[in-house]
Amino acid sequence: MESNVEGLIIKINSDLYTVKLENEEILDCKCRGKFRNDKLKPLVGDKVKVDTEKKVIGKVYERKNELIRPSVANIDKLIIVVSTSIPKFSSFLLDKFLVIAHKNNIEPIIVITKMDLISRKLKKEVNLYIKYYKKIGYKVYKNKEIRKIKNEFNNSIVSLMGQTGAGKSTLLNKIDKTLNLKTNEVSKSLGRGKHTTRVVELHKIGTGMCADTPGFSSLELYNITKEDIKNAFIEFSKNCKYKTCMHVKEEGCSVLKQKQKENNKVFDSRYNNYIKLLEEVGNGSKRINSK
Ligand code: ZN
Repeated sequence: MESNVEGLIIKINSDLYTVKLENEEILDCKCRGKFRNDKLKPLVGDKVKVDTEKKVIGKVYERKNELIRPSVANIDKLIIVVSTSIPKFSSFLLDKFLVIAHKNNIEPIIVITKMDLISRKLKKEVNLYIKYYKKIGYKVYKNKEIRKIKNEFNNSIVSLMGQTGAGKSTLLNKIDKTLNLKTNEVSKSLGRGKHTTRVVELHKIGTGMCADTPGFSSLELYNITKEDIKNAFIEFSKNCKYKTCMHVKEEGCSVLKQKQKENNKVFDSRYNNYIKLLEEVGNGSKRINSK
């Protein structure tokens, strides 16, 4: 009998790995000691080979990406939750999240929340942003478009990102009521200071999975280069014919020309965020590689 079966790690609690096998069976496994020596730590989202008799993970397949917070691998889509009220709308944070998605080869999906709480004037402005991001090729939804957002989970591993209070839990609760309950239970059972290890888990949504995510208000750029930032501003690369151009002060750069010619608030905000992000990387925290 074949005892080596492929599966997906859907939960990690300390050194207990819960794997969903190919036949949908759920199996709690341990890890082979070898991994510790290799410094390879299996993550939620990892595709693995399991010895079902010994209940041991024998192999971790190559990852297509790996996020630090939450600690998950092989994410297909990143839902970036952007609040317009409290916390107030920040195009800078949005662009920063987009850089992270591009860098990690994850399809970003933007979800705008709390538009019912803002003034008509601000609503008009946010709509200009929505229009712009859609035009350059992103999927942008308002949080009331629940069905469309839910469809994004189909056959995918999805993670959510956004500031604390941006409305991630509310959104998840609307997509699947049982899911929010589950994530609450997890955080309750962890208590305060009692457990030092965080449980990371994938929750089923339709035919896909959702990685539970802690909220956070600050975001550092890990291992991100100026080139990564440049590549993440997709419309600039499309616009400028010079492959090596950084669109900062190069002669003949179409991005700079457009900036001078057009009086477009959203374009200006994109450009300013771009420069700000380049500077952030340029100032080089130790976490950021220069190559
Ligand atoms: Zn350029």
